[in-house]
Amino acid sequence: MSNLTNIGTVKDILNRHGFTFSKALGQNFIVNPSVCPRIAEMGGAQKGVGIIEIGAGIGVLTYELASRAEKVVVIELDSRLLPILDETLSEFNNIKIINQDVLKVDLAKLIAEEFAGMDVAVCANLPYYITSPILMGLLEAKLPIKSITVMVQKEAAQRICAEEGTRDVGAISLAVRYYSEPKVLFSVSRGSFMPSPDVDSCVIRLDIRETPAVQVDSEEHFFKVIRGAFLQRRKTVANSLSSALGLEKSAVNKALEQADIPLNARPEQLTLHQFKTIAEQI
Ligand code: SAM
Repeated sequence: MSNLTNIGTVKDILNRHGFTFSKALGQNFIVNPSVCPRIAEMGGAQKGVGIIEIGAGIGVLTYELASRAEKVVVIELDSRLLPILDETLSEFNNIKIINQDVLKVDLAKLIAEEFAGMDVAVCANLPYYITSPILMGLLEAKLPIKSITVMVQKEAAQRICAEEGTRDVGAISLAVRYYSEPKVLFSVSRGSFMPSPDVDSCVIRLDIRETPAVQVDSEEHFFKVIRGAFLQRRKTVANSLSSALGLEKSAVNKALEQADIPLNARPEQLTLHQFKTIAEQI
């Protein structure tokens, strides 16, 4: 097979197909040979496992996934890449390519139809412009998947994987931690991509929990409270919550007191358990 991380080979393939990169679609393809094998291995690609990949590019990661996993279903929006993938992945018969916007695919149906009897994991070098909708979509859909191993922008990795109670925590960190155990696996420099982006990247893995980190009566209310608390990061939880949820400050203060939380606490200082207690009080 042609080496999909060799710059000369990649340029030749792209030129022959008249392909030009779309910045709007987040098209930065991996050309560092050590990155994709690591994503595939750390992402659980092995016999008996079905992999969903998001965004094939010219198939550099797909190649490593298909070499190891039972089956790979890759969702790629840009139809200009299809003839290229036909060529670069021609040696495999365990790959299915779906030419669609990942945000519009019914993944529960896809898993039931394509991966019967297999463990399923998601692996991808994500299009960064839709990192949060993709990750939250995967988590909120409560899909029967074991893990999500993805390359994201470094700052997004820090936020998504931030430990509870630390400075980098945002609403998304807590939402991710509710559904999964997140971990930064390794960093990837901008020079590992073609074209080279203006940002550095990290590969992260979210190991999906069998049951959420805390048990809440209403997820909708719980996440409304978390989002409300982080709406104005520099304000106290009490101030943010009373304005975001339209509540009397005294009612919010009472809820914080009952939850044993200082009235001047800031949202990033609170744990999922503390948010659960607040949500139960208001
Ligand atoms: N996996 C390849 C690699 O590592 O070199 C390509 C990764 S590139 C960062 C992101 C890929 O996602 C591109 O191929 C792009 O066309 C595709 N993409 C962008 N938006 C998409 C969407 N909404 N649904 C599916 N694929 C999308």
